[in-house]
Amino acid sequence: MDTGLVSRIIKARQYAQERERIEFAHFVAQFKGEHNTYQVTYDEGQWHCTCEEAVRTGVCSHIMAMERILGDSVLLAASAVQVMEPVSMN
Ligand SMILES: [Zn+2]
Repeated sequence: MDTGLVSRIIKARQYAQERERIEFAHFVAQFKGEHNTYQVTYDEGQWHCTCEEAVRTGVCSHIMAMERILGDSVLLAASAVQVMEPVSMN
């Protein structure tokens, strides 16, 4: 294997451990819930989900799960911060 490729692989492994380097701007994800598949979208800090809970309250378990998966790479849904604060998520 050439040394350039090896060094890129090493750098990629380092970057993969440093999630704060990545900030998502937009994405669309299909989220397979227990009963249906929903579309979760993220656009410059604005979260949307096609499930009934998100339409009614602005946040849902699908958005909250995506926030936990993506960590510092996304901004939290504003209403989720209020809901999550009193609950220990450990
Ligand atoms: Zn949802």
